[in-house]
Amino acid sequence: MVYYNERQQKIAKKFSPDVIKSNWTDWKWQIKHTIKDIATLETLLNISFDEVERKKLEKTLAKFPLSITPYYLSLINPENFRKDPVFKQAFPSPAELQVGTWEMEDPLSEDKDSPVPGITHRYPDRVLFYISHVCSMYCRHCTRKRKVGDKDSIPNKKEIIRGIKYIQSHPEIRDVLLSGGDPLMLSDDYLDWILTELRKIPHVQVIRFGSRMPVVLPYRITDELVAIFKKHHPIWLNTHFNHPREITPSSREALRKLADAGIPLGNQSVLLSGINDCPQIMKRLVHKLVENRVRPYYLYQCDLSEGLNHFRTSIGKGIEIMENLIGHTSGFAVPTYVIDAPGGGGKIPVMPNYLVSWSSNKVILRNYEGVITTYEEPENYKSIRCNNNCEQCDLQLKPYETGECEYIGIARLMADSEKIISLTPENNERLGRRLAE
Ligand SMILES: *Cc1c(COP(=O)(O)O)cnc(C)c1O
Ligand code: SF4
Repeated sequence: MVYYNERQQKIAKKFSPDVIKSNWTDWKWQIKHTIKDIATLETLLNISFDEVERKKLEKTLAKFPLSITPYYLSLINPENFRKDPVFKQAFPSPAELQVGTWEMEDPLSEDKDSPVPGITHRYPDRVLFYISHVCSMYCRHCTRKRKVGDKDSIPNKKEIIRGIKYIQSHPEIRDVLLSGGDPLMLSDDYLDWILTELRKIPHVQVIRFGSRMPVVLPYRITDELVAIFKKHHPIWLNTHFNHPREITPSSREALRKLADAGIPLGNQSVLLSGINDCPQIMKRLVHKLVENRVRPYYLYQCDLSEGLNHFRTSIGKGIEIMENLIGHTSGFAVPTYVIDAPGGGGKIPVMPNYLVSWSSNKVILRNYEGVITTYEEPENYKSIRCNNNCEQCDLQLKPYETGECEYIGIARLMADSEKIISLTPENNERLGRRLAE
């Protein structure tokens, strides 16, 4: 089933009178006809900006490029376009040029944590692998705003091979996230090649895609693409719906194809001022997602990237949304709200507090209704003192299943086998004085 509604037909006809459904639903046709300038958008939506505004918009575009697929454009309601959640995600605002005090070009230090070009290795067992520099639609709230769209569309094969070699030579990497830009901008053959190469590496257990195609260009999810994914299982895919309006018959169809191919689907939303900063909108969104077999995975606090000032909300808004979801709806419909730590600390989950207090044998908790309750801790629980000797342990984990046991951070403070008693910031003055004595 492919869908081609009246508004879409009208837009298609403006490109050329003989566009038919099969062009419109051809992803390559869509990419060839992405809207990259203001005048085309005005014609297609039948709207217009005055000279002053247009000048400001042009200035914004000179810094951050514009690209909208005809499909995504067709979701905009021209009657009320300025408040439209799709318009606001896709169309520039002069506010992007106001740089906030704390904004940075690379707030997540993705470039600093990059051992070879195209790879960010931040967490112990998984890497981000950027295999495309472009997207079909440039999200105005993109955290990699300064980077996407300014390079060649096909990443240099040498660079990709270098990335694959890095993964090959690091046996600790068991999960590879293919990202970009949008990795599904690459051709089927190219993707097949990358997946084949990655699958030759025995320690790569899981391959994940991060792609916004199901939202902005669902026709990219073709039977052929899905057949390629199927050859290389386990493949996971995370997409990026931000507003219930984005779930359309076409996007449902794309999600159905992916889910039917056995690809576990997740969604990463960004909390955006004036777009989805409302508990009711978020609830509607997560319900629509799970109806389509997509599990809400993360809700991101908007990053401190340059040009995103006007999109940022308070953290309180995010916690309020979580308060409205946890307990109020299915557990699997609730994403984890995270702040991606500036400076490269990774994602930090943030939640309302449920633990009210604690005694030597009881915890005091509150639930979503405001009921305060107690949980009596077991009297005879004997915690295992772990010496990392799995072979001697009653829990029967096979030593070859654990690999090397390495504790990091707070988990290291907790580990019985570690001698460390505290974590101290570098250049701590107090300790500096001790050494000086
Ligand atoms: C988000 C992210 C990952 C994946 O994190 P998960 O919590 O496993 O989804 C990996 N590397 C980097 C650099 C990331 O930002
Ligand atoms: S699809 Fe992703 S990488 Fe591309 S512009 Fe949007 S947020 Fe950025």
